[in-house]
Amino acid sequence: MQQPVALLSAVKRGLSCRCPKCGRGRIFERYLKPAASCSVCGVTTGQIRTDDIAPYFTIMVVGHVVVPPLLLLEKMYAPPSWVHLAIWLPLAILATMVSLPRIKGAVMGWMWWLGIRGDEQH
Ligand SMILES: [Zn+2]
Repeated sequence: MQQPVALLSAVKRGLSCRCPKCGRGRIFERYLKPAASCSVCGVTTGQIRTDDIAPYFTIMVVGHVVVPPLLLLEKMYAPPSWVHLAIWLPLAILATMVSLPRIKGAVMGWMWWLGIRGDEQH
């Protein structure tokens, strides 16, 4: 079911953790807990289940951000393991914490636009 909003707009609004329809209300009431409905326009997005796709995309994105420089550092300087842990572990955790809700919001915007809830019924 196509929505009166462009797909790219819905995904971009979700990416900024905003309602995919109006872009003003928050899509989450807490870190990753979807709000039942938009506080501005009332669209219901709280029933959309993204399941594992948001963590999957997050791992893919964070992996591509962290692993190439890690391998480059290892190849160029071969530092001790503690240096790798001190740099890449906090960076990976921070990048994951920042990107996970944004990616989940983008997936929710995409699913809202498609009119699917992820509950295997619709
Ligand atoms: Zn809204």
